[in-house]
Amino acid sequence: ATPTALLVGTGRGAQLGTLIKGPQVLEDTRRVDTLVLDKTGTVTTGDLRLKKIAVIGRLDKKAALKAAASVEQGSEHPIARAIVAGAKEARIGLPRITDFTANPGEGASARINGTEVTVGKAVLFDTVDPALVEHARTTPGTTVLVGWDGTAHAALTVGDAVRDSSRAAVERLRGLGLTPYLLTGDAEANARSVAEQVGIDPAKVRADVLPTDKHAIVRDLQQQGKVVAMVGDGVNDAAALAQADLGIAMGSGTDVAMDSADIILVRSDLDAVGDAIELSRATLKVIK
Ligand code: ADP
Ligand code: MG
Repeated sequence: ATPTALLVGTGRGAQLGTLIKGPQVLEDTRRVDTLVLDKTGTVTTGDLRLKKIAVIGRLDKKAALKAAASVEQGSEHPIARAIVAGAKEARIGLPRITDFTANPGEGASARINGTEVTVGKAVLFDTVDPALVEHARTTPGTTVLVGWDGTAHAALTVGDAVRDSSRAAVERLRGLGLTPYLLTGDAEANARSVAEQVGIDPAKVRADVLPTDKHAIVRDLQQQGKVVAMVGDGVNDAAALAQADLGIAMGSGTDVAMDSADIILVRSDLDAVGDAIELSRATLKVIK
């Protein structure tokens, strides 16, 4: 390999909106046959908005939103930010909270006037009315529950949109010989709906994956003999990006994701993955 050719390749990459972190990366792009895509913020825009509130019994929807948003003031999670923004839009004032605790991949809780309020997945509650479970299962978007004293009292649904370019990008990457998988901490039903919208086989959806387990999914695929490229944006994608044979981070993502990746997409668009892979392969041909 001549260093000049590499510079040309990586330099042009930067122009196209791609930062390639070193010569070895070019070789890796040639070998990859599997593409693991994080859902939120990668296949979708990640711009979550509060869409719907459902309550059990006579609880006021605003009271449910107030309780949830109060807890979420303490969280940096995109779901939390959408819920807090929803409360702000409805001009709901939020009380101070104490004892905030985050459960990564599941939710968060805090004390409001001595009562422990929890927001997140059903596993965080002792009692969840089956009607809320059914509502969560059938409502498009990501539904989290809010409750106190161990009981869920309401459900809040947030949603974002699939990026316009994602479907064509997935098809192009398939054309480049990569089999796409969808990986998310979100629920199965929502993950499958996104997979269907972008043309990913439902059998290749890995949903309800804890942040600490994302890298294990990548490792399992590698143990099956696959050479894995992973695309992600979040803090919880960092270990998986590092585990992958080729880690690709969205430029709009978090610093930790970008630090763990081999390629950074300046343009936060899945189509840039196809550009990066084609460019790397073409650069390699020039060098050889
Ligand atoms: P993703 O893989 O889609 O980026 P995460 O692993 O961050 O998702 O979160 C997985 C799931 O955990 C979310 O879909 C949500 O149900 C729940 N969750 C995590 N953090 C929070 C929070 N602060 N508030 C409510 N729910 C949360
Ligand atoms: Mg993400």
